[in-house]
Amino acid sequence: MINKSDIYYETLHAGYGQYFEVEQVLFEQKTQQWHLSIFENKTFGRVMALNGAIQTTQKDEFVYHEMMTHVPIIAHGKAKRVLIIGGGDGGMLRQVLKHSAIEQVTMVEIDANVVEMCKTYFPQHSQGAFEDPRVNLVIDDGMHFIAQCQGKFDVIISDCTDPVGPGEVLFSSPFYENCKRCLTEQGIFVAQNGVAFLQPEEIQDTVRRMSPYVKDCWFYTAAVPTYIGGTMAFAWATDDVSARQQDLATLTQRFETANINTRYYTPALHMASFALPAFVENAVKSAQATTA
Ligand code: SAM
Repeated sequence: MINKSDIYYETLHAGYGQYFEVEQVLFEQKTQQWHLSIFENKTFGRVMALNGAIQTTQKDEFVYHEMMTHVPIIAHGKAKRVLIIGGGDGGMLRQVLKHSAIEQVTMVEIDANVVEMCKTYFPQHSQGAFEDPRVNLVIDDGMHFIAQCQGKFDVIISDCTDPVGPGEVLFSSPFYENCKRCLTEQGIFVAQNGVAFLQPEEIQDTVRRMSPYVKDCWFYTAAVPTYIGGTMAFAWATDDVSARQQDLATLTQRFETANINTRYYTPALHMASFALPAFVENAVKSAQATTA
């Protein structure tokens, strides 16, 4: 249990971590899948942690959610159908729905408790997104859903926990193979892929497991303050090798047409986010070499 005088220590990384002074415990429960904690912190506002790993905070959620939605949707240019795997807090859903051209969003979340708790304690994440008529919320394991899915999506976003427990299957080769099968011809798959400096093996695992199914498997990054240890890597997978090569004029024109407000995403940052540090590029290339 955590209580007011407690400190919440994140336990995701061995021997290194961040802590939060707990101003108020708002919710704590073992759900079917997780040990779910929600608490107030002076600096980051409301914080949600699952099994000792920070999932989202009121103050910095926009960075992660904007970069995992607007980059693939604006790169695609004509996205109509989107699939979100995970994303129980609703932040990803809200950003996708900002695009009026999106006609349908399916969101597959394994734990209904997370959705209900986040509607209650993080209303600003979803801001009514779950009630949008374009949304089809499915409570299921993302792997089970995608394995039997016959639909096709222009963008698939895997917004899941780290590759432990129920999240682990969402970093597997069968999951990636089925996601590719459910992408349209120019469809784009993105996924949270950990903080490259501390979790380089996650990057290499994704390259080895994803590359057999797509023409382009790469990464882009963003600095998310509470995903500690450096920039967060997002996996990028598509058969449309031009999808991450658009020029600034094209991205700017599409962004202006979308007419959405953002606090982190800009077309220039979109382009720059695909430039990787040498140690990440080398990790990707060495994993590619063992896959070829
Ligand atoms: N931004 C966070 C991060 O990068 O770790 C992810 C936030 S979101 C709360 C993660 C969601 O993934 C949780 O709601 C969790 O229940 C869901 N999840 C984990 N494994 C899943 C699975 N196999 N199928 C569907 N949802 C899953």
